[in-house]
Amino acid sequence: YTNLILGGSRMVKNVGVIGSGTMGFGIAFQFITNGMEVTIHDIRSDAFELAKEKLKTYLTIFREENVVFTDTEEIITDRLKFTTNLADLKNCDLIIESATENLELKQQIFKQLDLICDENTILASNTSSLRLSEITKDISESRKQRVLLTHFFNPAHIVPLVELLKAPETSQEVYNEVDTFMKKVGKVTIEVKKEVPG
Ligand code: NAD
Repeated sequence: YTNLILGGSRMVKNVGVIGSGTMGFGIAFQFITNGMEVTIHDIRSDAFELAKEKLKTYLTIFREENVVFTDTEEIITDRLKFTTNLADLKNCDLIIESATENLELKQQIFKQLDLICDENTILASNTSSLRLSEITKDISESRKQRVLLTHFFNPAHIVPLVELLKAPETSQEVYNEVDTFMKKVGKVTIEVKKEVPG
């Protein structure tokens, strides 16, 4: 009923990020400093210590540069959770996969997420050089309507631009949800009209 009132559009609030590396952490930092709850998933739990250190360092740098966030550093820090269990992301509204650039690895992650996640969860990849259609080729037809590419630039919490790309099956509604979300967290989006690797 709510979806009818809102014309089918939902609000993205809880976000999952796969990969706690250079891009994954930067993406998560952008989101938690703009009001979102984020869970980062990585297979290496030692990546989380590094991320926690980075979080402190980034907040200190911004404070010293007199950048004011809407929320306190404590609130921002509390918004970030870590897990090595992919199933912990099952109720996320949006998951951005930013794991190591490897086709088989990403295909596996998308297949697992498709099985684990709520039917409404949107799955996005931050791949730089792989094709979204290849990464998602083995997922269910219904989920294919809820996937897209969200390509950030390094450092993801500094560079405003995010390129968005729909797969042929991606619904316009899903694209709009993600586009609205990105603008809400301070990003500038551009739609890439043709799937071109790299
Ligand atoms: P990175 O090596 O810094 O981080 C990758 C992380 O993924 C690591 O922490 C690794 O442990 C983790 N990982 C590996 N397998 C995993 C799995 N099965 N599940 C969960 N986590 C796993 O890499 P990066 O530079 O952050 O790149 C990540 C993605 O972003 C790639 O697809 C890359 O093409 C894309 N990208 C990179 C840049 C850039 O400038 N670095 C810019 C835009 C997009």
